[in-house]
Amino acid sequence: MNKTLREAIIAGNWKMNKTRPEAKSLIEELKPMVANANCGVVICVPFTNLETALQLTQGSNIKVGAENCHFEKSGAFTGEISADMLAEMGVEYVVIGHSERRQYFGETDETVNKRTRAAIEAGLKVILCVGEMLEDRENNITEELISMQTKIALKGVTRDELKNVIIAYEPVWAIGTGKTATADQAAEVCGFIRETIAKIYDQEAANGMTIQYGGSMNAKNAAELLSKEDVDGGLIGGASLKAPDFTAIVNAANEG
Ligand code: PEP
Repeated sequence: MNKTLREAIIAGNWKMNKTRPEAKSLIEELKPMVANANCGVVICVPFTNLETALQLTQGSNIKVGAENCHFEKSGAFTGEISADMLAEMGVEYVVIGHSERRQYFGETDETVNKRTRAAIEAGLKVILCVGEMLEDRENNITEELISMQTKIALKGVTRDELKNVIIAYEPVWAIGTGKTATADQAAEVCGFIRETIAKIYDQEAANGMTIQYGGSMNAKNAAELLSKEDVDGGLIGGASLKAPDFTAIVNAANEG
């Protein structure tokens, strides 16, 4: 069982939710609830909540991530935040290539690759999102698409740098829709991503890589999804906004 070689990580993606006072109360509620987790616990929060999250999680087992970063180091990119800016604050993780960025903000496989490399160079850990649209699944091209997204995103990333990359398999049709992939569907694609990593790098690198599932994971379905050999945690949207729901998923990962 290679699952024991990898760290299971449950990461919350708050998206564009929570003012600072709301963030403060959620983190304060969450902290004691997940204090005994034996998996990694990360909250990826809006830029405006990073400082609050970093302060409140000091000395706890909760790590803090951002939801995006730009690929340039600095310059005339109004409204953008660089990877160095995040790293300097003490942020550890950043989500790159989320399907909402791809769908609504013109993110392409190429810009995902640039952002991934910039984030790694700045010393951040990347939660790299890949996933097919419903149409792709219906056209039976899920594997081709996932393979292409993964290969392009990791272009120029060395084997050594790969230890700072987590891949989140997020079928677009399951995000925020309440439609979860079945545990078998999630396991199948997470396993396929691992095979792809083995082809690009080698089997040892693939065996050590944390591959999460994301898409309407919740307190009820988490245990089954996380019990699968190739599913090493989750990227959680909606259910990360309520401490008891997020904690239930962390507890499921503890058992998974
Ligand atoms: C996400 O935002 O990455 C996500 C998986 O959202 P949800 O859990 O709400 O489907």
